[in-house]
Amino acid sequence: MELRDVRAAAEQAGADLFGVANIERFDELPLERHPRAIFPETRSVIVLGRRIPRGALRGVEEGTNFSNYLLYGLDWLDNRFTSLTTIQVAEFLEDSGWEAVPLPNLPPEVPPMGVAVRPKAPRPNVLLDHEDAAVRAGVGEIGYCDCLLTPRFGTRQRIQIILTDAEIEPTPLLTETLSPSAERCRTLCPLGAFVGEQMRTICGKTMTVAQVDYAQCRTCKNGALANRQHPAGRPDRVAATCLRGLLDLMEREGKVSDRFATPLRQRTAWVVKPDVDLYKL
Ligand code: SF4
Repeated sequence: MELRDVRAAAEQAGADLFGVANIERFDELPLERHPRAIFPETRSVIVLGRRIPRGALRGVEEGTNFSNYLLYGLDWLDNRFTSLTTIQVAEFLEDSGWEAVPLPNLPPEVPPMGVAVRPKAPRPNVLLDHEDAAVRAGVGEIGYCDCLLTPRFGTRQRIQIILTDAEIEPTPLLTETLSPSAERCRTLCPLGAFVGEQMRTICGKTMTVAQVDYAQCRTCKNGALANRQHPAGRPDRVAATCLRGLLDLMEREGKVSDRFATPLRQRTAWVVKPDVDLYKL
C-alpha cells in the first residue's frame, strides 16, 4: 500500500498527526505489549492524532473554566472526533482489502483480565503503549515530563492506532530533540512530583525522562484529571499546570511550529495545594 495514499486518507479524515512504523520497529517489545499479540499478521502500525485546540486549555490556564478542556480537549476529542478519524482510515484500508484493527488509547497500566486462551498467548487484554508507538512511528518523542511531545503541537494531541497487514513504507523517526532541558522542566511541578530521572531508549532514540510520582498527580488539583478508563492508568496531565507550563516554554523556545499571537501563559500560574478543598473555595 502506498504511503501517500494512506496519508491522504488520514488527512481527509481529519488527522493532524500521522506516522507509520513497520512491525520490525516493535521487535524489542514483550508479547504482552506487542501489536502481533493482537493481530499476528500485522505488518504496519499507523499512528493517527488530532490536535487539542490551544483554546481548550485557556479556561484552565486562567482557572475559570474546566469543562471546555474536559470536552474539546479530552472526552469528545478522543472518543468522538479522533475515533471518527481512526475509523475512517480503517475503512479506507479495509475497502482496499487490508484488515485494519483500530485501537483507542486505553491505559497500558491496566492489569490483564481473564485467562490465556492458548499456550504462550498473553492474557487479555493486551494494551499497547500509544506514546511509545508514536515514537516508533516518528510522530514525536517522550519529553522529560514523561509525556508525548510533537514538533507541531508540543503537548497538545490525542492519538490512536491502527494495526494492518498492509505493508506501508515507514515514516522516519524524529531525530531532533523537542523537550526543554531537565533543569527547566523540573521547575514545572509546584508539588515536587518529579522524583528522579531515567534514560529511555525507543528504536535507538534515547530520551531523558523524569520519574514522576503519579500517586501525587492523582491528588493534584492544578488541572490534572484522574484516568477516565481505569484507576491504574496514569492521570491526564495535559491541562495540569506542569504541562501547560511546558507547552508555554516550548512555544517560547520555538520548539513547536504552530504559532499564536497570544502567549499561553500571560499571568502568574495559579497553584492549589493538595490540602485545599476546591469545592469550599
Ligand atoms: S499533575 Fe500536578 S503533581 Fe503531577 S507533575 Fe503535574 S503539577 Fe505536578
